Amino acid sequence: MADTSPDTQIGAFVSSSGGIFNAIERAEAIEAEALMTFGSNNRTWRKTQHKPEVIERFREAHAASTVGEVWLHNIYLANLATDDPALLERSTDCVVNGLTVADAIAADGVILHTGSHQGRGFETMFEQVVKALTGILDDSPGDAVLALENAAGQGGVIGSQFSELGAILKAVDSPRLQVCLDTCHAFAAGYDLADKQAIEEVLDEFDREIGLDHLAVLHANDSMMELGGRRDRHDNIGDGHIGTDGFHVMMEQPALRGRAWLLEVPGIDGDGPDLENVNRLKKIRDASPG
Ligand SMILES: [Zn+2]
Repeated sequence: MADTSPDTQIGAFVSSSGGIFNAIERAEAIEAEALMTFGSNNRTWRKTQHKPEVIERFREAHAASTVGEVWLHNIYLANLATDDPALLERSTDCVVNGLTVADAIAADGVILHTGSHQGRGFETMFEQVVKALTGILDDSPGDAVLALENAAGQGGVIGSQFSELGAILKAVDSPRLQVCLDTCHAFAAGYDLADKQAIEEVLDEFDREIGLDHLAVLHANDSMMELGGRRDRHDNIGDGHIGTDGFHVMMEQPALRGRAWLLEVPGIDGDGPDLENVNRLKKIRDASPG
C-alpha cells in the first residue's frame, strides 16, 4: 500500500471473479484508492477456497498497488436474526469464513448486513444476534474488523436506526465490532445527511447511540429514494436525492473523514462503480476542507 494515500480514500466495490487478486487490478483500472469485494461467491453458501498462492498473489498485488484499505462484503445470504437454527449456523459460519479470509489477505475487515427479524421484532431477536456476533468474533483469527451496516428501513431489517446498532455494539463490547455507514440507506431511513443543519443532529445521534469512534468505513451511494423513503435504491453520485451538494455537506464533516468511502453505485453504464463516480467523489473530497 502506498503511504501517500489520502486520509479519506475514495474506493469502490469491485468483482473478485477469476481470483481475489483481480480485485486490485479492477480497483486500479477505475483509479479507486480503496476497494471492497466479496471474499466468497455471493450466490452460494459454498465457501470459495482461496489457495495459498492466490492469497500470496493478492498480498503482492496489493503491496505493489496504489490501493489503500481493503474490505470484504459478507455474502448477502447471511441472517443472524433468523428463527431457523440451520440458517443461523450457516450464517455464523460464513461470517467466520469472511473474517478468516480477511485475516489471510490482510484486509481491514468485513462488512455485514446483520439480518432481518422478519416481523418478530428487534427485541425478540436481540439476544440471539448478540450471542451470534460474540461467537463469530471468538472463532475468527486476527484483528480484522466486523462492521455492521445500517439499513434503509425496509420492514424487519435490523439496523435502520442507529439505536439498534448501538445496542448490539454495547452488548457485544468488542473493539473489533464496528459500523459501516451507508449514506443511501441512512437517507432512506430518514437521516438527512444532505442538509447542512440537519447533518449535525444526525451525527450527534450517531455519536450518542453508537460512538463516532466506532465508525469504521462508509458506503458512499446517492439515493433514488427521497428522504425517509425506506427503500434501498442506490444512485450514482450526484444523480439522486442526496445530490452533489449533499455529498459536499457530508464530506465537510470532520467526523466522516479519515475513513474509506466505498462506492456501490450502479455506474453510468450500469456496470457498477466506474471511473466517473470515483472522479465525482474525489472532486467533492478535494474541494472540501478536511
Ligand atoms: Zn451498502
